[in-house]
Amino acid sequence: MWATVYRGKDDLRCEQLPLPRIGPGELLVKVAVCGVCPTDIKKIHHATVPPPRIFGHETAGTVVRLGQRVRGFAVGDRVALHHHVPCLSCHFCRHRAFAQCPQYKRTGITAGFEPAGGGYAEYVRVMPFVLPGVVKIPARNSFAEGAMLEPVNTVLKAVRRLALLPGDVVLVAGQGPIGLMFTRLLQLEGMSVLATDVLASRLKLARRFGARWTFNAAGDIPQSGTAGPVARTSLAARLDRITDGRGLDAAVVAVASDEVARDCMTFLRGGGQLLLFAHTQRGLKTEVDLASVCVDEKDLLGSYSADFTLQKEVARLVFSRRLDVRPLITHRFPLAQTAEAVRLAARPSPNALKILVGPDLAQHRRFDYCRRNSPRSDSIHDSRVDCY
Ligand SMILES: [Zn+2]
Ligand SMILES: [Zn+2]
Repeated sequence: MWATVYRGKDDLRCEQLPLPRIGPGELLVKVAVCGVCPTDIKKIHHATVPPPRIFGHETAGTVVRLGQRVRGFAVGDRVALHHHVPCLSCHFCRHRAFAQCPQYKRTGITAGFEPAGGGYAEYVRVMPFVLPGVVKIPARNSFAEGAMLEPVNTVLKAVRRLALLPGDVVLVAGQGPIGLMFTRLLQLEGMSVLATDVLASRLKLARRFGARWTFNAAGDIPQSGTAGPVARTSLAARLDRITDGRGLDAAVVAVASDEVARDCMTFLRGGGQLLLFAHTQRGLKTEVDLASVCVDEKDLLGSYSADFTLQKEVARLVFSRRLDVRPLITHRFPLAQTAEAVRLAARPSPNALKILVGPDLAQHRRFDYCRRNSPRSDSIHDSRVDCY
């Protein structure tokens, strides 16, 4: 089979590998699509883990082989996978800190080498301890919708960390795919969302996803990705009007900007909550007025990864299309162009939101392309597909 192998910093190569062999309690799944996720991009760009590995963990596909001890699945089942599943019984799990559970930290899906998700391959092996995380995709839903369960779960988990009451005002900073999911899930829970971004096209979509108000933070520094002084002042004035001077009940920071996080902290009311969702790089520091935590009782929270116990609820939200993820999927690349997909996801064009990679028949004919491994940027638009 073909797979995209991480061979070192920014080095992704198309390689031919043996089909993964499965044990008696395992599944072999033929990959249909796999989402390109910022956490994988970070590992590829910063070489935070040793090569070789096959990344890709937002995977959906078809069961093609079953170990003899597997129950509850059949060949031909269309499934969405979770590469991490907690044990539900350790000290961390009892505290619902599932992402800190030792079993959860193990990756249970691989296409070869050290398990790393494996979705950027034609086939993956699903190990026994992550079988509880395999979700069947209803006939009316697409593989792409199945591949979105994992990111949606991470967002719903984060939303549930907030102590909100219906009607509360929440700012969601950044309207990429994750920010848009926050906007919609918060709206479904009865919150009034102010969505901010620097791209008008994303703010338009935020309205469709349930934002009550939008604010373009580009202001006087359009390219910086953060609000300049003029934009900040006008955002502060806007928030004053919206909340009668009280301040935000919560703010979700879905952009990796310290400046945005600090601004949001000042926009909170006393006892409000700041939730960080994009600050995943270790070692970076920023100043926080600790009295805003101690005296003003503002909570500084983070949330990472998925909550297994929310899995059924997430599947219902996505498959019923109450949270319709289809408008979030803007690009799809053949497996042979994974490197290009990762490049686009790392520096998205204004029209790019969620990017998927998927093996298709054309990829074999494209192998010469793959060998050159120097894609032209204009081919991005050739790969665009309509996922509706
Ligand atoms: Zn992910
Ligand atoms: Zn555990």
